[in-house]
Amino acid sequence: MGDGRAIIVRGGRVLDGARPGAEPGDLLIEGDTIRDVGPPGLAAPDDAIPVDARGKLLHPGLVNAHTHGYHAAHKATTDRWTLERFLTVSPWINADLSLEATRLSTRIAAVEMALKGCTACYDLPLPLPLPTIDALDSVARAYVDVGIRAVVAPMVADISVFHAVPGFLDALPPSLRRDLEDRAVSPEGAILSQYRTLFRDWRGEGGLVRLAVSPAIAHHCTASLFTGLAELARENGAGLHTHLAESRIQAVSGLKRFGKTVTAWLDGLGVLGPNFTAAHGVWLDDDDVRRLADSGAALAHNPGSNLRLGVGIADVRKMLDAGLDVGVGTDGARSSDHQNMYEATRLAALVSTAHGRGRDAGLSAAEAFHAATVGGARTLGLDKLGRLAPGYKADIVFLDLGRINWIPLNDPLLQIVHVEDGGSVDTVMVGGKTVVENGRPTTVDMAGLAAEADRLRPRFEELMSRNPELLGQAQAVGGEFCGALAAEPYHIERRVPAAADR
Ligand SMILES: [Zn+2]
Repeated sequence: MGDGRAIIVRGGRVLDGARPGAEPGDLLIEGDTIRDVGPPGLAAPDDAIPVDARGKLLHPGLVNAHTHGYHAAHKATTDRWTLERFLTVSPWINADLSLEATRLSTRIAAVEMALKGCTACYDLPLPLPLPTIDALDSVARAYVDVGIRAVVAPMVADISVFHAVPGFLDALPPSLRRDLEDRAVSPEGAILSQYRTLFRDWRGEGGLVRLAVSPAIAHHCTASLFTGLAELARENGAGLHTHLAESRIQAVSGLKRFGKTVTAWLDGLGVLGPNFTAAHGVWLDDDDVRRLADSGAALAHNPGSNLRLGVGIADVRKMLDAGLDVGVGTDGARSSDHQNMYEATRLAALVSTAHGRGRDAGLSAAEAFHAATVGGARTLGLDKLGRLAPGYKADIVFLDLGRINWIPLNDPLLQIVHVEDGGSVDTVMVGGKTVVENGRPTTVDMAGLAAEADRLRPRFEELMSRNPELLGQAQAVGGEFCGALAAEPYHIERRVPAAADR
């Protein structure tokens, strides 16, 4: 395919937000775009390439609003971690990640997303000490190899976790302080000049990959770095994506440092706006939600990660009621292991009932599916994704209705949110190109990928396990200090099912 002829997909059932009943329908694709969707027998050019979708349910590719592809090789390597333990040691395990390892990890993530019905993601890599063109290429190439879309926002910061959390540095023994305090941060000037170089020199990757800006964690950036990055994003028409109010410790730290919430601080800096995506937002209060919604920002909700790290459950009902656009994310594999958007979407629906405000406070299947498609597209700043409708990109997932998840076929929308787990994915198209066929990637040799992962695994293991004494000490101090901080008062509460440090 792809020789300039149109594609006509016939015989399937079409599910999207406006067609929740998944009635029989045909789709006409021209180039990378859906031209028409209509009842069986839809008119098509004589030379259109026919695709037989009998026995298949077609839905728009899911959009992963927040992940870290460079984590993928680390899936299932940590048990009972907390966010702060992770941040304490993160500089150690990421500082020497090679470009080759980053590319491999990102390919693993991209293949998993494609195989599980996801056709686009917001990926936040962590190239240290600074994002370079080569680092960006190593991530972008992975997505191009697999054939799915990505908005790539390299994370930067000029304040380490030890400075961002008031009192943390003082709690470290002097020997640890020397080794830890300034790893993974760079001076503001160097960061801004490097980002300028990226925007000037990066050529993009065939329209599949876009560059965006990520101040990694909002309060790990000085005011001038954050505003400088926001300015760069604006000048280049790019997105701005940051981790915000993820844990109670972050919320308490922000209040101590700024005398207001981190979101109020950002609002005061003038950096909120339609290109702004906040990840997590578990500890946003009503005023924070209103500020984000009023600015036109969007939120990436990561329920699997939030549960795995025990940081609490974001109040998505309040966000939607305030008019805030919400997408669903898996987060990176170090905090939530897999990249399965079906499961993330189901979790979003399930955890929404945890706030104890009655049945109607939970997300409906329609709201969860909307968040996983159109909402995700909003977080990525790509408005022609997430629907099977004329003018939208031909990013289409074909589910096999003969698989057990669809026997019997009841309410398609309820079934896709609450039953589908990726096990029915047969074919995936991105921009009209087939990247998964018969449940296998067409673009990647799985045996080769496994062999490459085996070859590099000792390197990943070495990064995770070096200097265990120092890491053990840092984690012990971090756990104790952050546990005490998490117990300090905060003006809102969240359900926190299992947090080790509080
Ligand atoms: Zn994240």
